[in-house]
Amino acid sequence: MSAEIINGRELADELRERMKEDVEQLSEQGIVPNLTVIIVGEDPASLSYVRGKKRASHKIGIHSDLIELPETTSHQELLHLIQQLNSNDEVHGILVQLPLPAHINEDEVIETISPDKDVDGFHPISIGRMMAQKDTFLPCTPLGILTMLDEKNIDIEGKHAVVLGRSRIVGKPIGQMLLNRNATVTYCHSRTKDLADVLRQADILIVAIGKPAFITGEHVKKGAVVIDVGINRLEDGTLTGDVDFESASEQAAYITPVPKGVGPMTITMLLQNTIKAAKLKNQVTTRS
Ligand code: NDP
Repeated sequence: MSAEIINGRELADELRERMKEDVEQLSEQGIVPNLTVIIVGEDPASLSYVRGKKRASHKIGIHSDLIELPETTSHQELLHLIQQLNSNDEVHGILVQLPLPAHINEDEVIETISPDKDVDGFHPISIGRMMAQKDTFLPCTPLGILTMLDEKNIDIEGKHAVVLGRSRIVGKPIGQMLLNRNATVTYCHSRTKDLADVLRQADILIVAIGKPAFITGEHVKKGAVVIDVGINRLEDGTLTGDVDFESASEQAAYITPVPKGVGPMTITMLLQNTIKAAKLKNQVTTRS
């Protein structure tokens, strides 16, 4: 038996169509959601990500400004710019592309963004609200994963979710968000003992480590849901995930591919968070 593929590209396109209508309704009320993205330096991968975010925003009617700053930008200059954007009423969401150059303190930058405009969901206040199960901006990749599970009507409650990887942007928050939905959650990382045994217990296996084909069919319980967050570029230029798709899909009931899996959902959730920020600012209560 081969797993059902959860196509993140198709799902993202469907969701973006729905969001486009939402944005149209907002603009009829004179509200144009505005996402401002800041990038410091000229890392080609980061530049391509931020340009992708801007394109995706425009396609659904969100206004997006991309501020490209030189590598030499000082820590203080960046903080000052964020403070200006915080007090600019036209800006609903602020995103600072990470990583930042080494001379800039990333934590302080994130903490300077107003929690009301924290569409990436990385601010400690957003994280605290998530843990306390209050309404907040949830980080985009984990939110994209939850949305995929929900759109496929995959039960979370009572399931054993194993999360491989404990980064602040993916592993830790997706574990917390699954816990909030009543899963039993186990976190695994580089110091986990008997890793293969733990992985084989997962009803829902989330893999986010950045190691090509690290997970194979041997690690996957029959009928499990496998979510591959990894994005790895091989020497020949192709993109691949952390999961060996062929062998894992022989075991799994559902699996996400790479590409066309979690990646397109991440940007979609950024758009969703930006619409949410615009609605909060204007006290509009409709969906998203
Ligand atoms: P990080 O590099 O920040 O963290 C990697 C995690 O994996 C760490 O917790 C580390 O453990 C763990 N790990 C690494 N090697 C092993 C191992 N051999 N055994 C067990 N655990 C291991 O990862 P990110 O979360 O930032 O990214 C993970 C992957 O997801 C990357 O490929 C990244 O490109 C991709 N990604 C994809 C996104 C998308 O939209 N699809 C968004 C964000 C990331 P320890 O903590 O002990 O060091």
